[in-house]
Amino acid sequence: MTGRECGECGQCCKLIGVRELEKAPHVWCRYYKRGKGCGVYEDRPRGCADFACDWLLDTRLDQAWRPDRSGFVLHAGDGGRTINVELDPTQPSAWRRAPFEVILRGWANAGAAEGLEVLIWVGRRCWRLTPGGGEIDLGVVRPAVGFASHSRLRRPGSGRDWPPRETVGRVEPT
Ligand code: SF4
Ligand code: SF4
Repeated sequence: MTGRECGECGQCCKLIGVRELEKAPHVWCRYYKRGKGCGVYEDRPRGCADFACDWLLDTRLDQAWRPDRSGFVLHAGDGGRTINVELDPTQPSAWRRAPFEVILRGWANAGAAEGLEVLIWVGRRCWRLTPGGGEIDLGVVRPAVGFASHSRLRRPGSGRDWPPRETVGRVEPT
């Protein structure tokens, strides 16, 4: 583990669905207490205990990337083939703020040859960043099942350096 802690973040408790609780994505979990965190931490569902966002796992991402500051949760999808940028629908353009957009597009460029993708999510709608600086609107691609959890997974140990080291951006001071 990285030694990082969630602190007061809690963004995944809003943005990510929890099947065991039938908690829909993009609504606050009924157990989340602002400023205190999970109210049932010792007994939280396995889906919660197993989850760690990429900011928590990757100390190359500095404090600006902490999800309650950035406005999005980064998490793995499709067995590590995709990086999902899960936006808070109240801040759908947060990923375009500096330094995020340039770095995310750098990851998309670097991963394209291996079929790795950076996906921008606003609710059920998705855009795929394309090499060269564009994006493709994939439309509404998530099912309208209220509590469906999506990719609430740790990034698997795929051996890939993804996002690539040289395009992560500033390394947090130790
Ligand atoms: S989004 Fe990441 S840092 Fe925030 S509470 Fe969830 S796992 Fe922790
Ligand atoms: S049970 Fe706890 S960890 Fe899980 S979503 Fe709710 S507040 Fe977050």
